[in-house]
Amino acid sequence: MQKSSNESKDFLRSIVEEDLKSGKYNEVHTRFPPEPNGFPHIGHAKSICINFGIANDYNGHCNLRMDDTNPTTEDTQYVEALKDAVEWLGFDWEGNVRYTSDKFNELYNYAIELIKMGKAYVDSASEEEIRENRGTVTEAGKRSKYAERSVEENLDLFERMKKGEFRDGEHILRAKIDMSANNMQMRDPLLYRIRNVEHYRTGDAWHIYPMYDFAHCLTDYMEGITHSLCTLEFENNRAIYDWVLETLGLAEKRPYQYEFARLGINYTVMSKRKLLELVNKGKVNGWDDPRLPTIAGYKRRGYTADSILNFCDGIGIAKANSMVDVAQLEFSIRDDLNTKVPRVMCVLDPLKVTITNYEGSEEIDASYYPHDVPKEGSRALPFSKEIYIERDDFMENPPKGYFRLTPEQSVRLRHAYIITCKEVIKDADGKIIEIKAEYHSNSKSGEDTSEIKVKSAIQWVSAEHAKPVEVRLYDRLFKDEAPEGVEDINPDSLQVIKDALIEPAVITDKPDERFQFERQGYFYADPVDYTDENPVFNKIVGLKDSWGKKKKVAKAKPETKKVQIDGEVVAMSEAEQVLFDKYTTEFKLNSEVANTLARDSKLSSFYEDALSELNSPVALANMVSNEVARELKEKEVNELKFSAKQIAELIKMVDDATISNKIAKQVFEEMLTSGDNPRKIVEAKGLVQISDPAVITPIIDEIIAKNPDNVEKFRAGNTKLLGFFVGQVLKATKGKGNPQVVNELVAEKLK
Ligand code: ATP
Ligand code: MG
Repeated sequence: MQKSSNESKDFLRSIVEEDLKSGKYNEVHTRFPPEPNGFPHIGHAKSICINFGIANDYNGHCNLRMDDTNPTTEDTQYVEALKDAVEWLGFDWEGNVRYTSDKFNELYNYAIELIKMGKAYVDSASEEEIRENRGTVTEAGKRSKYAERSVEENLDLFERMKKGEFRDGEHILRAKIDMSANNMQMRDPLLYRIRNVEHYRTGDAWHIYPMYDFAHCLTDYMEGITHSLCTLEFENNRAIYDWVLETLGLAEKRPYQYEFARLGINYTVMSKRKLLELVNKGKVNGWDDPRLPTIAGYKRRGYTADSILNFCDGIGIAKANSMVDVAQLEFSIRDDLNTKVPRVMCVLDPLKVTITNYEGSEEIDASYYPHDVPKEGSRALPFSKEIYIERDDFMENPPKGYFRLTPEQSVRLRHAYIITCKEVIKDADGKIIEIKAEYHSNSKSGEDTSEIKVKSAIQWVSAEHAKPVEVRLYDRLFKDEAPEGVEDINPDSLQVIKDALIEPAVITDKPDERFQFERQGYFYADPVDYTDENPVFNKIVGLKDSWGKKKKVAKAKPETKKVQIDGEVVAMSEAEQVLFDKYTTEFKLNSEVANTLARDSKLSSFYEDALSELNSPVALANMVSNEVARELKEKEVNELKFSAKQIAELIKMVDDATISNKIAKQVFEEMLTSGDNPRKIVEAKGLVQISDPAVITPIIDEIIAKNPDNVEKFRAGNTKLLGFFVGQVLKATKGKGNPQVVNELVAEKLK
């Protein structure tokens, strides 16, 4: 992954290059230094990519070091997981894994040296006293009276601490630096503490353990590290890092610390402590649960190492913390798999179709890669009289814009024939249990001479040949954009489908481990639970970003509308349930919006009236369940100043991009008071959306010129600032700029 010279370098690589050029070091030597107290997560992947990536780019070395100085939380299973993660990402730590615990003797000797220099002392004050005497940001601290101890006394106490003569917390070893330093970290920091606990590697050999600030710099030094790269929260610790090395006279070819921004991703928790809680409380199925942001989780879910590397590369290295959109990670796996994996057919919710005019069976030669890729390969796809299609690919009373099978509308079976529905068979409860259809023998894919027009092709499997499989569908583990932890879990994050049906070649040919199930998403044969008898597939990611859309509709939900008694949701009436089902399956409304509409007859009839004017179910539902619902809380329909037809007109202007969503809300407020027609309001107020680049571009130029600092930060990798620029431009257009156009133009300009 050597960066070409015309590509902008990140600030860490600039430093490394400078240091090599000036001869400060002959070779770059970095390290990845995790504490083995949990499974590594995607934040660690970023650190791995940075440390190993830089070593690779400049022909240097990178150590893998277990920073294992805290005996209470560390364990070999985490060491193994860390090694696994680094290896899986494709990096090599050359030789042995390093352990800070292997250096306990050397570290102890360095501490003795500091004591002998009068630069460290044993403090026997209580934890509370120590905290109190530290002072505050505005007030200097007070040095402990124990700091006056003689070197001999300190040496004696320190040795006895080591031997285990004292209880935890009875004494600590502190550096003697400066109790009035502005940098609070420098107020006589802790170097060693007593821990009468077994260590997973050194057993009971030690009763004292070094603190990070003491151990890290010295271990870096002993390993010959040149650039010690860590995350921003250690910025203030850098002074101690330097003090320890300088005081001990380790100036020759010493390492220096540099800080970069921690990776944060929305809808994700990323601290080992919180992840451990999810695992321990059984909220997920172990550290490799595919919903977790652990490397083991991504690996099990089906993410490729390449997709993680590309993601880490794409987010860049910045000096300021920022939040990355999880959609970016999802994009990178989709992008990686799109042209690589075979496309096959799987039916998740099967509906039987009998093709009455077809007898026997045949095999169709169907390409695994029916798209523009240089890959070749095909399978025999069995076709027969009885097939299964996806239940929601048939609709008896479809809304406008439904392109799949209906009693009036034929559909193509992917790779095969066009079929026409002849009869719908239902059970006693009115549930559709079978479709009787006819196929058109001259309509076979690739040799179609029929005149029948169809609007889409759907997946299917032959009943006799299909294999039953288990499919695990994952949604985001957290429903909150910035989740705290356990309390924000999305209860629907895992859905297990036990009886999906897949075409046989997937199981018998095994052309790959990852597949695109056509029209469903990307899937991976679960590396743990998959067996030939019980094949299990994990959904890696959907085909397109459905989350963003879903979120928008969900936000429209008026919180007060929930009908709840004692935490129990009141059951829907039969009629409400019918509406709810129709809204969620036919109109694809988010279940919360569907719930709001279905439970309120005023709202649902208003919604249906609007829908009869304009076939835009989602956008209308959004407006009705939010804005209109607010009005109907206090009023009856005949008291409203606007009609369903006018709401349809308003949404139509949004749909055809005449106005933005934001402006639509503004127009709605105007309709409430004036009762005017929305189109008239838009014209009178000059609210038509601006989509013309010639108008927008000069505004962007101006905003860019005004914010040189942010431009620089953006180009240095803080991609979150894109939103800042778009927001500024939209503001300058008084909300009239077409957000999509503005977004594209801004992204283009900032490149
Ligand atoms: P956590 O807070 O999740 O427990 P940590 O910082 O305690 O993480 P360590 O095992 O000490 O985890 O980290 C090993 C290395 O990985 C450190 O250099 C650390 O800076 C880096 N790292 C940890 N989390 C992130 C992150 N979110 N983004 C980038 N680097 C990270
Ligand atoms: Mg930590």
